[in-house]
Amino acid sequence: MAVDVVVIGAGLAGLRAATRLAESGLEVELLEASDAVGGRQRTDEVDGFLLDRGFQILNPAYPAVRRWVDMPALRLKTFPVGVRVRRADRSVELRHPLRHPTGIPATLLSGLVTPRDVAALARWLGPALVRPKTVISGPDRTLAEGWDRTGIRGALRTEVLEPFLTGVLAEADAETSDAFARLLVRMFALGAPGVPERGMGALPAQLAASAGRAGAGIRIGARATRVRTSTARIDVDVDGGDALRARAVIVAVGPEAAGDLIDIPRPETRGLQTWWFAPDAAPPASALLAVDGRRNGPIVNTVVMSHSAPSYAPPGRHLVQATCLLSTEASEADVRRQLAEIWEVDTRPWQLLRRDDIAHALPAQPSPLRVASPAQVGDRLYVAGDHRDTASIQGALVSGDRVARAVLRDLGTTRPPAGAG
Ligand SMILES: Cc1cc2nc3c(=O)[nH]c(=O)nc-3n(C[C@H](O)[C@H](O)[C@H](O)COP(=O)(O)OP(=O)(O)OC[C@H]3O[C@@H](n4cnc5c(N)ncnc54)[C@H](O)[C@@H]3O)c2cc1C
Repeated sequence: MAVDVVVIGAGLAGLRAATRLAESGLEVELLEASDAVGGRQRTDEVDGFLLDRGFQILNPAYPAVRRWVDMPALRLKTFPVGVRVRRADRSVELRHPLRHPTGIPATLLSGLVTPRDVAALARWLGPALVRPKTVISGPDRTLAEGWDRTGIRGALRTEVLEPFLTGVLAEADAETSDAFARLLVRMFALGAPGVPERGMGALPAQLAASAGRAGAGIRIGARATRVRTSTARIDVDVDGGDALRARAVIVAVGPEAAGDLIDIPRPETRGLQTWWFAPDAAPPASALLAVDGRRNGPIVNTVVMSHSAPSYAPPGRHLVQATCLLSTEASEADVRRQLAEIWEVDTRPWQLLRRDDIAHALPAQPSPLRVASPAQVGDRLYVAGDHRDTASIQGALVSGDRVARAVLRDLGTTRPPAGAG
């Protein structure tokens, strides 16, 4: 079979690329090795609970999400914007002062934020809020160095920012790019993240429906085993099926698998582990994401999903997630003990529904920040994915679109994509 473009991998990047190409009138075949689209964004229904494959959230402030995702259709269930911090003697809540003004007194009384901290935070985050482009193009350093330079220290750093960003960046040493971290925190300041009513998997499902409507063929359970280029053509071998011939191939298989098909260095990745629990009776009262400022155990964040997204649990039940770094040895006993300390409830009767170990959750994002790697890596051969742009939903979508535009330019298609801004 011959088509214009074969896209390998139906994660967010591959789905966005296939949609753009099909909307431009090209014949596109999308190959997905697993049993459904979505890649790292999948949701399973387990005993009436919705379990994402690893806790993650969707920020509607991401420009790529605003542009290419039908957010009303996903019915986002947003979390309150703030964080609950377990301190040595008590728990305190910090809320976004503009979104939850009633939380300001508690924030001021928390003992975590002094006027000096507010000034340091403004020095660190201000440029990203006001002129994000200068953060992208300016000098970069590690996050730890960025905090040192701007004077972020004390409890705000050790009990709030470090534990919170450990979960977001999937690393505990603040060695990620300072610019990347600031741009991410900017998004938290601007958006109210949440989860789609039917789980994170609803996002790629929506993108796949758009790709299908635009005319892209999507083959599930179709693993590409080899990409063969010659001067005149490019072929993709498919496990157990006929090879596909194309004018161009986009490899969008995720950071751990790209090196199996094309000759690029394997990007460093970071792993996360999520534990899903169903409390027996009344769950912890707070709907805020909680971190452990004492760092007394493997958990980097935990939240009662069903307070903000009741659809994640059957009627009358609740769902709690607890996330750890995969690199940390976490026993179930450790997790239950720390959860009990964070939420101040007895977690021994909680039912463990599932544990997700995601070895390649996020590509590392070292300093200096590199926002885009080349779209093309060989004759007729392109590569897309979050590891080529930035480690996020935003990065994956932008990458897919950017690479599709490069293919369109090279194949000489001039027809504008339907509905694209
Ligand atoms: C636990 C966790 C938490 C996260 N939290 C957040 C968050 O809160 N916010 C955020 O913005 N991002 C988050 N992310 C990151 C986000 O999910 C990813 O950046 C994004 O989904 C990556 O999409 P992708 O298309 O680049 O790659 P992938 O999703 O990895 O897609 C690659 C696809 O290629 C397929 N494939 C692989 N090999 C082959 C082959 N040989 N043939 C055919 N198909 C193949 C795979 O099955 C997969 O479907 C998180 C990720 C994880 C795992």
